Amino acid sequence: MSILVDHVTLYDNQEFKNCMCGCQEKMVYKIKHQPQPLSLPDKMIKTIEMLLWYTPNNASSVQTFNNEYLDNKIFEDAIITYYLRYFKISPEDFYFLEDGSINQVLLAPYMGSICNRCQKIIVTRRRGETKITSIIKHLRNCLAHGNFNLFGNEDFIGFDKYKGNYTAVFKIKISKMYSFCKQLIDEPDFTISQLFQYIFLKMKYSICSLPTGGYNFTNKKEEEELVFAVGNGYAFRINCSRYTRGGYIKKFEEIEEYVPDLEDDFFKDVQYYNLFYCENEQEKIRKLSASASVISKNGLEDLFKGRYELISNLRID
Ligand SMILES: [Zn+2]
Repeated sequence: MSILVDHVTLYDNQEFKNCMCGCQEKMVYKIKHQPQPLSLPDKMIKTIEMLLWYTPNNASSVQTFNNEYLDNKIFEDAIITYYLRYFKISPEDFYFLEDGSINQVLLAPYMGSICNRCQKIIVTRRRGETKITSIIKHLRNCLAHGNFNLFGNEDFIGFDKYKGNYTAVFKIKISKMYSFCKQLIDEPDFTISQLFQYIFLKMKYSICSLPTGGYNFTNKKEEEELVFAVGNGYAFRINCSRYTRGGYIKKFEEIEEYVPDLEDDFFKDVQYYNLFYCENEQEKIRKLSASASVISKNGLEDLFKGRYELISNLRID
């Protein structure tokens, strides 16, 4: 079975709607914890551990790792689109302010009594941060400064402040916060596949994702997905396994080996390419085979700057 995606969700503030749930059953909360220490559900404890120690790009933890993609502003909209999916929030639930603080009108629905229906995230950026690193930092600050509480059965309300001004509001489900943090830790490399998918969607290709279960490929992990960008008479298999040391790709398969197994009409009458990714230009080997193309990190950045012809150029044999 194939899963088709043909558009990209943009979290660009245009569709933001502040909480207007008008719930009769609004819940009163207090930031002051009672009892102390709070009795926390397991997922909340795990979320605190992840945010304090393990989520990427946290210079003050020795447990973490650095993911340079998360710090790169060129990719920030694609990355935020990918990770916000784990919060299961739509563009009307996310508001991103470029600087300053959150005004009283925006803050009002979260003060004193709140609904436990919608999730809302409002964050401000400080200079140098990307949208994703800003969210992670503000969430961590809510916890580190104790400026949060739980309400309802599974809801979290948290604030960040700077010099007396509110700089972030999170009214979210604990389980979604957990999934978001877990994803940041578990699959940092997966971001690269998502970056390619985002750019192909921008180029009006469709994304088709196939679980390999049921297909018998040699040397492949069962859980691995095959991701294709299909459009304009071409199908690019997006392969983001990084090069191993020495510049060779292990587990390289000719795309024709498995294409005949794909009976979906979607794959009829298109020309196939294996699109590989590598970190730097030195590792770039242009033609691994007639059906393989390689794009480097610089090339990926160029695509995000709008140089879409790089993809058309890949198709020239
Ligand atoms: Zn609401």
